[in-house]
Amino acid sequence: MARKKKETVTLPLVGMIAIVGRPNVGKSTLFNRLVGQRRAIVGDEPGITRDRLYGYSEWAGKRLRVVDTGGIVPDDEALIPAEIFRQAKVALEEADVIVMVVDARTELASPDIDLARLLQRTGKPLILAVNKIDDPKLESYVEDFRRLGIRTMVPISAEHSTGVAELLEEILERIPEKAAGDKTVEDKNAGARPALRNAKTAAEPADTFDDQPSVDLDSEIDDAPHEGAEQPDSELTPEIKIAIIGRPNVGKSTMLNRLTGTARAIVSPIAGTTRDAVDEVVERDGQIFRFIDTAGIRRKGKTRLMAEKLSVVMARKHLEAADLALVLIDATEGVTAIDATIAGYAHEAGRSVIVVINKWDLVTINRADGKPAAKVDIFEEQVRRHLKFLNYAPIVFASAETGYGSGKIYEAIELVARERRKRIATGEMNRFLKHVDFERAGVPYSQRVRILYMTQAAVSPPTFILFTDRATPLHFSYRRFLENQIRDAFQFVGTPIWIKSRARN
Ligand code: GDP
Ligand code: GDP
Repeated sequence: MARKKKETVTLPLVGMIAIVGRPNVGKSTLFNRLVGQRRAIVGDEPGITRDRLYGYSEWAGKRLRVVDTGGIVPDDEALIPAEIFRQAKVALEEADVIVMVVDARTELASPDIDLARLLQRTGKPLILAVNKIDDPKLESYVEDFRRLGIRTMVPISAEHSTGVAELLEEILERIPEKAAGDKTVEDKNAGARPALRNAKTAAEPADTFDDQPSVDLDSEIDDAPHEGAEQPDSELTPEIKIAIIGRPNVGKSTMLNRLTGTARAIVSPIAGTTRDAVDEVVERDGQIFRFIDTAGIRRKGKTRLMAEKLSVVMARKHLEAADLALVLIDATEGVTAIDATIAGYAHEAGRSVIVVINKWDLVTINRADGKPAAKVDIFEEQVRRHLKFLNYAPIVFASAETGYGSGKIYEAIELVARERRKRIATGEMNRFLKHVDFERAGVPYSQRVRILYMTQAAVSPPTFILFTDRATPLHFSYRRFLENQIRDAFQFVGTPIWIKSRARN
């Protein structure tokens, strides 16, 4: 089927990067950011994250192989740079670009200087990632590392995922042309269009969880389609692709049955968007809804731990193929850390989100009038507090068991799908921009830029490019401020907004 073929296309592999640095500078954290958040999935269970080594990162329609040399080199603070270098040598030889990581919070020391010198001798493009800049106020620390003699320095916080996009852009700029793989359509587009796309990721077999048959999870991760945010802007998607995600027992299967049961099944089941997956496609009031991988939604882990891991892996996989996620929360338990992790994937992948507080019947059953009104505020407040990054997501209270709220869920899905594809014309955007007082963004004087104009470069998710007078990274206060202003003016309900900046000359 032509459609299926398109969706399973893998992005062209353009090169390989090696992450190098002394122990504890944050290599592994950065690696996880680049190839996906496997560490966050499994928390601190030993033995699962340590064998990290290779993975893939996807950015701007291209795929990069990433090797974390921290996985080869022993984690020994006393290790001398020459030894780090020797052990990482094979990986360094393979790499097209080397990313050296330093810890901004420690003084520049001679081992860093030695390591930088050794890396420079390879003659490969070298980028310095100055890590642990958790607060933009600390960005001046970067200057301290200029002595290493590495021209390209990028402030990042691997922990908070800031600066990682900028780092990826610097990396891609330095990938030699010869390394560029087959020229696919995506590849050409990536050059012509703004580079910001999904940092969608896939992990490699080395990452398999130990108590799961490896074939199973590997193929689930590696075969995930690389599609979703890439639809042509003009095309109105005929169907809305929905992932139902959440931790074990929140009611995903029950909700799936409820939602598909109240609509007309078109063909059920239908060939999935991912290999071996089965989607359910239904029609309701003329709109077509595709629920991604319903077999996966119904699958249960054998043990509690396994079920949890599976739920997180499934969430990632399902998000790849979806426009929009229903993030289910169990009303009887409130928002947990795993809920936040799962919701975080949706946000970071640029998918739209609707938060569904399920099992609402259980927390309201004892009320004489049966109405949930009293608790709604408390729950909303809790969700907003624990899932701060989802401040744009609608919250729906529902019961998969009784059917309460399913109409609202469908309404929210349609609204959010529309908002996601909304496009603001450049003229309108700039009329809006004239009234934005950037003085109020609270950006430190030294980091202020003049905002010249702005344009919406893409939909799904809405992506804006801000043209400024200086080629300096956009201070995050601008982003936050501008995002709030954009939402005040244009809403974009349920969808993340991506903002990029470009120097105008
Ligand atoms: P590696 O030994 O170089 O792989 O370093 P890790 O990735 O294991 O990180 C070492 C420590 O630094 C861990 O405790 C991380 O949580 C912490 N860390 C990594 N990145 C950041 C960051 O951006 N900010 C802060 N504050 N801590 C970080
Ligand atoms: P999943 O693991 O997320 O797919 O969760 P299931 O759909 O299997 O549901 C787990 C349990 O919660 C089952 O016993 C369901 O009957 C129950 N359940 C699911 N949704 C609701 C609900 O809205 N209200 C009540 N009372 N029970 C629910």
